[in-house]
Amino acid sequence: SNESSASSLQSNDENIQISSYSATTWQLLKLCKPDWHYIFGGFIFLLAASVTEIFIPYFEGHVINDIVKSTSDTQIRDAIITLGLITFATSVCTGIRGGLFMVAVARMNIRIRNLLFQSVVKQDISFFDQSTTGEITSRLTSDVTKMSDEVTLNINTFLRGIIKVIGTTIFMFVLSFRLTVVTLISLPLIAIIVDYFGEWYKKLSKSVQDSLASANGVAEEVCSSIKTVRSFACESYEIQRYAKKLKITYGHKLKQAILYAGFEFTNEMLDLAITVVTLYYGGHLVITGQISGGMFIAFILYQLEMGESVEDLGEVYTGLMQAVGAADKVFELLDRKSEFTCNGTYAPAQLSGHIQFKDVSFSYPSNRERMVLDKVSFEAKPGEVIALVGQSGSGKSTCISLLERFYEPASGEILIDSHPISEYDHEYLHRKMALVGQEPVLFARKLEENIAYGHENCEFEDIRQSAIEANADEFIQDLHHGYGAYAGERGHNLSGGQKQRIAIARAIVRKPCILLLDEATSALDAYSEHLVQQAIKANCKNRTVIIIAHRLSTVEDADRILVIDKGKVAEEGNHFSLLAKNGIYTKLVKNQLLSTSKDSPQQ
Ligand code: ADP
Repeated sequence: SNESSASSLQSNDENIQISSYSATTWQLLKLCKPDWHYIFGGFIFLLAASVTEIFIPYFEGHVINDIVKSTSDTQIRDAIITLGLITFATSVCTGIRGGLFMVAVARMNIRIRNLLFQSVVKQDISFFDQSTTGEITSRLTSDVTKMSDEVTLNINTFLRGIIKVIGTTIFMFVLSFRLTVVTLISLPLIAIIVDYFGEWYKKLSKSVQDSLASANGVAEEVCSSIKTVRSFACESYEIQRYAKKLKITYGHKLKQAILYAGFEFTNEMLDLAITVVTLYYGGHLVITGQISGGMFIAFILYQLEMGESVEDLGEVYTGLMQAVGAADKVFELLDRKSEFTCNGTYAPAQLSGHIQFKDVSFSYPSNRERMVLDKVSFEAKPGEVIALVGQSGSGKSTCISLLERFYEPASGEILIDSHPISEYDHEYLHRKMALVGQEPVLFARKLEENIAYGHENCEFEDIRQSAIEANADEFIQDLHHGYGAYAGERGHNLSGGQKQRIAIARAIVRKPCILLLDEATSALDAYSEHLVQQAIKANCKNRTVIIIAHRLSTVEDADRILVIDKGKVAEEGNHFSLLAKNGIYTKLVKNQLLSTSKDSPQQ
């Protein structure tokens, strides 16, 4: 699944055109907008620093001329003071510029992460079915950092480079027209080389990021399922799988390194060629008295500076391409629209919990061909307890997923109090509904926080009461920190049955009007289950309950039992009427697919 999920986050690498890059750049600019005053301030100081810096070689040349000509000490001192003042001004501006840009980057980073997380959390569930957590977190972490760091760093370098190239060119022309022409002839050559290398580099950068994300996916998966890995002794297998992914990354990095080496070599050789020509021709100009020694040195300093700036500009290009590569992935996720929206607004004062499925058909987005539910229709009246039974894989949990709006039905309607669930306000509806899933998920927070999840302003007494009803109070009290004990990541510190009881407490503390229990007590021993069932039953009076269960004792008491078979409602009735039919239900009971729990102490 890793490969398929990796590709779900990848855009088609090869087809990225300049147009998409300019779109990305435009989006980046928009993202910078709220911090424009930091960025603007940074630019002002950047401008100031670059301009003052350009004067430095000129004054250095003057000092050298003064020294060579052995003019008076005061003249030399004055020239040095001027030089010192300019350098001081440059340093101050450079410092402020750096600080302002760093603040801007930090702010941008945080804002992008927040926006990205918002987008991620609001994606449809099928998005999560098809991507690994590692890939998603890698977007949130390394891609965001890469994007904002590289963007600001390179825009900085770019502007400084441009100003310096223009400034140094002007000074060079002033100092020696002919020498400057010689220098400038080589510039287009450098530009072409930079462009060529940059293009390759950006492609490789994207591949590096992609393969790293894929490796992260493996690490994430293994760490979160370490017990399974350990118990099947698959450590070496997983280590190899991870290494294989990293090897791919290394392959891309190696190509990048070779490219970089070639680039550096070409650059150095060009530098050398320019220096040789300048020294030869410039030496001739000094000897024939057409330029002073000091000014020739100033010229060389300008030339060096210009070379550096052009080189910097070249790196800006590759750097920006890296950033754009990362940004592309970030924006892809940032702009990803959930397949369906939660923009309903209906929120009546009272909800009675009347559920209706009308001809609901559904197939999972990952496998559209296979109809998981086929025209399912049923009704749960307010206060009723409906049990869904059927073989594993028949589509029971899917019914609950649709009711939770994890997915949208392909056709048909799901109504609550005669209103389609899509019309309801998302938060309103989910505060009225509570789900205890097959594998209850606890957060790495305190138990009381886990119980009060999504119901933050409830009293501790309510938390305790619901824990008592869920038969969880006793074991919680036995824990070292009681309700303040931490559940551990994904509830690792608790047993399966304990987790289920916390999840049940979490559901009942909200006093939901619709309670959905998907194998909610499967990990409990018969006695605990009996206690919890009693509590749930006692609480069912004013709420509609849909139960998926494998234990006959749970199902027997339901007002109505729906037998789901291959995505269809095959039979419907109460325990006795279904037994009388002698159909699928009877078979389920006989084959103990609905297990009896007569081992429970009393009935
Ligand atoms: P039950 O709850 O009756 O055991 P489910 O409703 O969980 O069955 O599953 C019904 C069918 O849908 C199964 O065949 C299962 O393979 C498939 N299915 C369940 N969840 C997903 C999913 N997230 N993506 C694709 N197929 C799924």
